[in-house]
Amino acid sequence: MEQSHQALSSKSEAFIEKENKYGAHNYHPLPVVLEKGEGVYVWDVDGKKYYDFLSAYSAVNQGHCHPKIVGAMVKQAQTLTLTSRAFYNDQLGSYEEFVTEYFGFDKVLPMNTGAEAVETALKLCRKWAYEVKGIPENQAQIIVCENNFHGRTTTIISFSNDENARKSFGPFTAGFIKIPYDDIEALENALKSTNNIAGFLVEPIQGEAGVYVPADGYLAKAKALCEHYNALFIADEVQTGIARTGKLLAVHHENVQPDILILGKAISGGVYPVSAVLANNAIMNVIKPGQHGSTFGGNPVAAAVAIAALEVVRDENLSQNAAYLGVVLRTGLNEIASRNPLITLVRGKGLLNAIVINCDENSDLAWDICMKFSEYGLLAKPTHGNKIRLAPPLVITETQIHECLGIIERALNDFR
Ligand SMILES: *Cc1c(COP(=O)(O)O)cnc(C)c1O
Repeated sequence: MEQSHQALSSKSEAFIEKENKYGAHNYHPLPVVLEKGEGVYVWDVDGKKYYDFLSAYSAVNQGHCHPKIVGAMVKQAQTLTLTSRAFYNDQLGSYEEFVTEYFGFDKVLPMNTGAEAVETALKLCRKWAYEVKGIPENQAQIIVCENNFHGRTTTIISFSNDENARKSFGPFTAGFIKIPYDDIEALENALKSTNNIAGFLVEPIQGEAGVYVPADGYLAKAKALCEHYNALFIADEVQTGIARTGKLLAVHHENVQPDILILGKAISGGVYPVSAVLANNAIMNVIKPGQHGSTFGGNPVAAAVAIAALEVVRDENLSQNAAYLGVVLRTGLNEIASRNPLITLVRGKGLLNAIVINCDENSDLAWDICMKFSEYGLLAKPTHGNKIRLAPPLVITETQIHECLGIIERALNDFR
């Protein structure tokens, strides 16, 4: 099937050509060139306004260019930006105190990107396994799930099963056991298969896989099993965390406190790369000076930005808004699905949702539908071929959700 084309302005075309010519082709963007964002809206270089239903993969939960977060960044950027961790700075300690109290952990290890935070969590888990649990050196195994997405580093892709993400990047890092997602029996079998299990790394909802929500109780049972077998429960909440699913963390839906919590994306509201690994002293204290670090991790700008971004989440009740509007959105989508057989399934939690399109994973239909959404003023992107993620900034209003449902239905009707 041929991909549909919207007439592109020559201005847009020029920007796209430049990226094509001078940038590595490691992404396949929708042909929209953005130059401005505010709240739930972004504008392209021709002044056309769109609803942002991707939110930079849930990094912009607080809305684009939130004045409080940008204000904190500008103020700190004019004062002190980077010292490295060779010295102390007057921002980091306050941030560490704030973020640990906010999420209920003893300590935080600050990094910059999600993948770095996942790497940090894996290293921390292994070190704990050798030095506290007593697994023989180099024998530690970490359990992961099929169809996971945890980032793009060599170790992380070692346990991906996305062939496109792996092909020609080997040899891979050993020490991972892959089990089906949302399968508690498979987890228990893996946990008891050897005495060398260090931990279980899991996304509370698999976002990239197509917003796959596990059965109720899965996370709580998984945490209990990890406790029973003395393995660390590591939650990758880079995409699901920070109010996205209608609770501060997605694991809170099942009252789970992970042993290691991984955060990124919206911890900065999308204005600056900030990520974090949180754990209690019994785990975090295995890391000693010189054993892990990052030049930019925990820099003064990141610290000031992250405090402001988390304050916005609390002050603007974004968890409650996501929970309530998620129900409104899914109800509306299910109504559309009842009228239009192109949608075979609606799923999600809070404002992390997806519709599954009635076509196979290799079809261009979901892409074409996203092109049509864009024509009508809404930006979304297919994931894994036939799924379209619908994840607006959490500052969206009920009126706006209804307007977006109108856009979605009108676009889908063009394909009947
Ligand atoms: C985006 C994402 C990552 C990687 O974050 P980057 O900042 O892109 O490195 C890791 N885990 C999950 C669940 C993600 O959604």
